[in-house]
Amino acid sequence: MTALACIGLGSNLGDRAAHLRRALAALAATAGIEIVATSSVYETDPIGPPPQGPYLNAAATLRTTLAPRALLERLLAIEAAAGRVRGGERNAARTLDLDLLLYGALHLDEPGLTVPHPRLHERAFVLEPLAEIAGELVHPVLGASVATLAARVRDGAAVRRL
Ligand code: AMP
Repeated sequence: MTALACIGLGSNLGDRAAHLRRALAALAATAGIEIVATSSVYETDPIGPPPQGPYLNAAATLRTTLAPRALLERLLAIEAAAGRVRGGERNAARTLDLDLLLYGALHLDEPGLTVPHPRLHERAFVLEPLAEIAGELVHPVLGASVATLAARVRDGAAVRRL
């Protein structure tokens, strides 16, 4: 069984572009994951406590045989390898943030894992990159396409394609 999963990537500390590149390389090197498409890189205004610099964000679509929980665990391990320190303030600056945005048409709400990602539909910095590569995918809870959701929150000033 394979599923099409969507991942959001973000970094606003250190060599941001290198963190995104390495994360994609680590995903591509994972058994059971094949990268289908990656978006452009976008520079986006930070949301969260100041002071912190702008983010680089991107999205990727993957074909995977990993179950959702195993895929999330892989994402968390890649974040940890990038030097991400958890336990600080919510939305604090981070070397690497990886989110599981969509996993096929699955709707899952478990301790530590909610799919679709609960804030996917609110965030231009996630939807804009994702719409570039997967605009036709439908959010299984909201019943709207990624392109439609992106148009609703579009903010060209805050999310700039590089
Ligand atoms: P953060 O990276 O600060 O947004 O929070 C990550 C935590 O949220 C992880 O420890 C996960 O257990 C949890 N989580 C729940 N659903 C998701 C998801 N769809 N993608 C990524 N993390 C998730």
